[in-house]
Amino acid sequence: MPAACLPLISPDLHSHSTYSDGTLTPHELVSRAVQRGLSILALTDHDDTSGIAPAQAAAHELGLKLIDGVEISVTWRGHTIHIVGLGINASDVALQAGLAATRVGRSNRAEKIVAAFESLGIAGSREGAGEFAANKEMISRTHFARFLVKRGLVKDMKGAFRRYLGGGQPCFVPHQWATLGDAVRWINGSGGVAVVAHPGRYPLDTAQMRELFAEFRDSGGAAIEVVSSSHKPPQYAVFAAYAREFGLAASAGSDFHSPAESYYDLGSLPALPPGLRPVWQLLGC
Ligand code: AMP
Ligand code: MN
Ligand code: MN
Ligand code: MN
Repeated sequence: MPAACLPLISPDLHSHSTYSDGTLTPHELVSRAVQRGLSILALTDHDDTSGIAPAQAAAHELGLKLIDGVEISVTWRGHTIHIVGLGINASDVALQAGLAATRVGRSNRAEKIVAAFESLGIAGSREGAGEFAANKEMISRTHFARFLVKRGLVKDMKGAFRRYLGGGQPCFVPHQWATLGDAVRWINGSGGVAVVAHPGRYPLDTAQMRELFAEFRDSGGAAIEVVSSSHKPPQYAVFAAYAREFGLAASAGSDFHSPAESYYDLGSLPALPPGLRPVWQLLGC
């Protein structure tokens, strides 16, 4: 078969390392991506960009195009929404100030989560979650979930969120993250493009979803994540239709966190539906 006919593996524009709540170091992540045939990967750690430099070093060594990214936690109308930034400049001062403030909020929330576990008679969650968090500024519910699994209080990560950490559960602590406008401004201001991550995860009705996309586009947002581990295949068509309606580009990302925990491994993402502008075209890929 001529080279031009070989199937291309879609870029994967959403992944995590040990600098947030992934279990692979940037080098391990890039190495796994290369082994699994990916040639373009974005590292999008939550609220932190310190994994980018080691990931770029690994990408250079192993021959992969690494897109500098981040996944920013946002509160929109009381809902937590994630905005991925792609092609960002991690040295941008305003972006770093915004992310640093977001991480302070995370640390404060983590203390409240610890207190909630203590009030249930579960001691040691600070140290327990800390054992899984290589980056002490970036404590996530995922780290608490791994602690619960290790303690044997739940059998898997899903159970940890269902019984303790998910919305409405006893150790869920409501939190005010950045605003949608701030996150898009930080990303755009650093030269990146903003993407609504895994919209299928948000408990929004159709009218609210349309308002989210309209406000996002009007704030300067660029794309919707259409293909995601959080979406079932029928949802690809739903979010593809939103992308066309709102004139937004489309992204695809595994949201890979760990070989043991992630639904789509690196290099196994389905292709974007037809008739969409792939966001990687905006990134010069
Ligand atoms: P945080 O940003 O600290 O509130 O944590 C959110 C993270 O928890 C997400 O990025 C996911 O990695 C993880 N997460 C959320 N819900 C679930 C779930 N039901 N099962 C496994 N992981 C989850
Ligand atoms: Mn995560
Ligand atoms: Mn997310
Ligand atoms: Mn993610």
